[in-house]
Amino acid sequence: MIKETEIVCSPEQHEDMEALKLITATALKTPAQQITGIKILKRSIDARGRKVVYRMQVRAYINEPVPQEHQVVNYPNVKEARPVIIIGAGPAGLFAALQCIKQGMKPIVLERGKDVKQRRRDLANINKQGLVNPDSNYCFGEGGAGTYSDGKLYTRSTKRGDVNEVLKVFTDHGATEDILVDARPHIGTNKLPQIITAMRETIENAGGEVRFDARVVNLLVNFSKIEGVELSSGEKLEAKAVILATGHSARDVFEMLHRQNILIEAKAFALGVRIEHPQQIIDQAQYHCADRGEYLPPSYYSLVEQVDNRGVFSFCMCPGGIIAPCATDHNEIVVNGWSPSKRNNPFANSGTVVQVNLEDVPGRDDDPFRLLNFQHDIEKLAFTAGGGNLVAPAQRMIDFVEGRISRDLPTNSYLPGCKSVDLVNVLPDWIHQRLQKALPVFGKKMKGYYTNEAILVGVESRTSSPVKVPRDKETLQHPQVAGLFPCGEGAGYAGGIISAAIDGINCADAAFKFLN
Ligand code: FAD
Repeated sequence: MIKETEIVCSPEQHEDMEALKLITATALKTPAQQITGIKILKRSIDARGRKVVYRMQVRAYINEPVPQEHQVVNYPNVKEARPVIIIGAGPAGLFAALQCIKQGMKPIVLERGKDVKQRRRDLANINKQGLVNPDSNYCFGEGGAGTYSDGKLYTRSTKRGDVNEVLKVFTDHGATEDILVDARPHIGTNKLPQIITAMRETIENAGGEVRFDARVVNLLVNFSKIEGVELSSGEKLEAKAVILATGHSARDVFEMLHRQNILIEAKAFALGVRIEHPQQIIDQAQYHCADRGEYLPPSYYSLVEQVDNRGVFSFCMCPGGIIAPCATDHNEIVVNGWSPSKRNNPFANSGTVVQVNLEDVPGRDDDPFRLLNFQHDIEKLAFTAGGGNLVAPAQRMIDFVEGRISRDLPTNSYLPGCKSVDLVNVLPDWIHQRLQKALPVFGKKMKGYYTNEAILVGVESRTSSPVKVPRDKETLQHPQVAGLFPCGEGAGYAGGIISAAIDGINCADAAFKFLN
C-alpha cells in the first residue's frame, strides 16, 4: 500500500531517514516496521512560529518495495538530422538544444564566449584586476549568465511549462536530487559549471554541435525568411530555423537586429543597488534566534513595497553569498550575486531595485534603445564614481537614507573593492528617493534589516532585458522573419534560469513544428 501524508520535524531530524520514518509512521497510525521506505516529495522550512521546523510531504510504502523511479533520458543520434542554429549557450540555448535532439533535429549552438574552464581565467581577471573581456565574463560564455549564477531554481512562471522536466535535466547531469523536493531549490556556483559541461557533452554525444568563440554578427535573411547566420570570422552557416537566445546583456545583438531592420522594442525593467548584510542579521530576523545553529540553512528574505506608484523590491537574494562584478564591457559597473552550494559565506545579499517604465525615461516612443541607453548611462556613471578597475560606488544603508557619505564602509564580499560615495550621484532622483523611502519600511517588516551594518553597492542594472524582440504568441516566430525564434531572457520571455530553460524548450518545439 502507498500513502501520502504531511509531517513536521525539527531541523536536527530533517536528514535522518530513520527518524522521518518514525514520524511518518505516527502520522499514518501505522507500525513503523511495516513501512518499507519513504520518499520525500516536498520539503520546506516553516519559520513562522517561535520554533523553526521542516514541513514535508512524504510518500510511505507500506509492506511493499520502494520503486526505483529515476529514468535517464536517452537522446537519439541527430548527427545527420536537419540543423537548427541556436545562438547563445545560456540556459535557454542549452535546453533548446537538448529539446531539438529529443525532437530529432541537430542543434548547432553558437556561443561567443569560451568553455567553462577557460572562462574561469577571465573571471579571475575581472575579480583580481578589474579587467573585462567583452566576450567572456560573468554573463557570456558556456552556460551563459546561468553558469556562475547563484543557481536558485525557483520561478513564478509555472504556467509556461514543466518545471520538473527542467529540474530532472539538471539532476540527470549531476545536480543533487534535493532540487526535486526543496521548496527553494538551489545548486550553487561551485556545482553549476560541471553540470553545464555535462549538458554540453550530452549534446555533442548525440551528434549536436557546440562551438565557442563563435560570435554571430549577422542574420542571413532572404525574402523575410531566415537562411542562416554569419559569424565575426566571416564564416556563414545555413539553417531554416534559428533560435536567438543571446541573453539580456548582448547589446550588440540588439544593434544588429535594428541595423537589419528587424523589429525590436523598448521594454520595462528594474534598476537599483545590491544590498549586503551580515548573514547573521538575516538569520536572527527570520529564525527568531541568536544563532541559526548547524542544522538550518542561511536564511533568505523577499521584500516588496509600492513607493510613489512604483514597485521597489528585493531581487535574486543570495544567502551566504558574494556580490559579483557582472559588467560585459569596459568602463561600466554592473553587480549581481551568487552563492556556493553550501551558502557558507558570512554575507547575505540581494538586488534591491525600482521598476523602470518607459515613461520614466525621456525619449522618442519608437526608440527601442531608450531604456537600454538609460541603463548603460547609469552603469558608466557607476564606473566613474568608483574611480575605475571595477571598484564599485557604495554607501552604508542609513547613511544612504539620511543623505550622508559614509565615513567608512563595512567589510563586504565584492572582490574588486568599494568606494564610499553618495549614491545620489549615480542613481537618478526618482530611483534614489524611492529606495530611500523603501528601506526604512523594509526595516519595519524585518527586524534588524535597517542598519548601517548593511552596504548598498551600485548598480544592479541587469535585472531583465530593457529590450524586447517581438514574436508571435502561437508560432513563437518573429513577426517579420519566418524561422527566427526570439528566445529566453534577452528577447524578453524569461527572467531566470528555469523560465529561460522552459522558453528554450518551447522554442525548440516551435522550430520542430515550423520545419515539419
Ligand atoms: P544568458 O544566460 O544570458 O545566455 C546568453 C548567451 O548568449 C551567453 O552565453 C552569451 O555569451 C551568448 N551570446 C550573446 N551574444 C551572442 C552572439 N552574438 N553570438 C553568440 N553567442 C552570443 N537566475 C536564476 O534563476 N537564479 C539565480 O540564482 C540567478 N543568479 C544569477 C546570478 C548572477 C551572477 C547572474 C549574472 C545571473 C543570475 N541569474 C539567476 C539570472 C540567469 O542567469 C539568467 O536569467 C539566465 O541565464 C538567462 O538565460 P538565457 O539563456 O536567456 O541567457
